[in-house]
Amino acid sequence: MMGRKDSEFGYKKMLNGLLFVGGCIPFFFWIASQSHGGETDKKLTTSGWIGIAAFVAYAIGAIVLIRRPEGHYCCPECGAHIKALRHNERSNQEYQFQCAACGILWKTDVFEGDG
Ligand SMILES: [Zn+2]
Repeated sequence: MMGRKDSEFGYKKMLNGLLFVGGCIPFFFWIASQSHGGETDKKLTTSGWIGIAAFVAYAIGAIVLIRRPEGHYCCPECGAHIKALRHNERSNQEYQFQCAACGILWKTDVFEGDG
C-alpha cells in the first residue's frame, strides 16, 4: 500500500461550503427587501415571512442533501467509489481513502473539524 496525496479533496470540501453560503445570500436580500417600518417598529410582509420559511427549508435541505466529499469519494486513479478509513484505522484525524484496486492510500491533508 503506497500513500499518495489528493490535493483536490480539500478544494472540493471548501467549494461545498462556499456553495452553501452563496445559496443563502439571495434569501437575505429578499427578506431584507420585504421588511419595512422604523427601527423600533420593524414589519415584514407576507412574502418576507415566506422568504424566511423558504430559507429555513433550504438550510435544512442543504444540510441533509449536500453530498459531502468524504461520503462519496472516488479514487482519482481508477474512479472506484471508496469509503473513508474509520477512526481506528488511521493514525490521526486526517481524511484518508484506501483504494484496494490500485493499492493506494489517498491522503488529503484535510482534517476532521476543519469545516
Ligand atoms: Zn483506484
